[in-house]
Amino acid sequence: MNTTYNQPLGGNDMARFGGPATMMRLPSQNSAEGLGACFLGIPLDIGTSNRSGTRHGPRQIRAESCMLRPYNMATGAAPFDAINVADIGDVAINTFDLKKSIDIITAHYDELLIHDCVPLTLGGDHTLTYPVLRAIAKKHGPVALIHIDAHADINDEMFGEKIAHGTPFRRAHEDGLLQSDKVFQIGLRGTGYSPEDFDWSRKQGWTVVQAEECWGQSLTGMMGRIRAAIGNAPVYLTYDIDSLDPAFAPGTGTVEVGGLTVWQALEIIRGCYGLNLVGCDLVEVSPPYDPSGNTALIGANLLYEMLCVLPSVAQHYSPATIQSSSLVRGV
Ligand code: MN
Ligand code: MN
Repeated sequence: MNTTYNQPLGGNDMARFGGPATMMRLPSQNSAEGLGACFLGIPLDIGTSNRSGTRHGPRQIRAESCMLRPYNMATGAAPFDAINVADIGDVAINTFDLKKSIDIITAHYDELLIHDCVPLTLGGDHTLTYPVLRAIAKKHGPVALIHIDAHADINDEMFGEKIAHGTPFRRAHEDGLLQSDKVFQIGLRGTGYSPEDFDWSRKQGWTVVQAEECWGQSLTGMMGRIRAAIGNAPVYLTYDIDSLDPAFAPGTGTVEVGGLTVWQALEIIRGCYGLNLVGCDLVEVSPPYDPSGNTALIGANLLYEMLCVLPSVAQHYSPATIQSSSLVRGV
């Protein structure tokens, strides 16, 4: 263990249900200075179209992250031995004004990205990815995008508004923030208004992987093909928790049946190992609809898995192969 880096507070030092409720019980600090990666929250839900409550997402994800231990038993990642990580708190959005809030978010990330720190964002509704991408593209240029979601989020407007949680990727495209030949939308499904709801994405050259194509499949092979297509381009990973089937993650605002499994989500994120990830978010956890806390718990775990595949962490390990007991395959 590199003792110069921040470590999550261990369960043998303080009971897991005690201590400050930071992400993974990491130290908190006010800026991204000196960090290789940071967790930060955006308590936003004024962009939602149906059930709200994602304003409580960051706090609940932090609460459910208290069980997370530092070492990844599946992949061998040891992120806290590789880089310095902290929880840098929440963005002070204006909860009475969505348009002002997106400018506040971009300004906050502009400031954060002065440091050589990769942001891992706890949402908050999906509106927030647009202002985050504005800052990310200012630093890195247009990015490749891996977008896991039940919805394409490419509406031109919602109720006459250009800014809402169903429009971020349309706006990002218009602003030139994305590399259109390297945009992947995975898990899309449900009812729509017309085929255009998904076909608009395809017309931009984006790759759409509908949920039905994923049913019953390992997504490890797909991720290998996505890595090959993206190459060394800077990548932003945005994970909408409603991509998961509501059997796993009911605590969200716009629920669609027939979604991905938790193990497919792990395959997708672990499959980002080797990519030049420059930012990640986990959005749309709505604690009022999550009485068991399971949705926030999954969100916390997926954020940890994102940390494990950041380039600065990935360069310190090769993904482990799960040791075979020979019982499952019989060989
Ligand atoms: Mn979304
Ligand atoms: Mn969605």
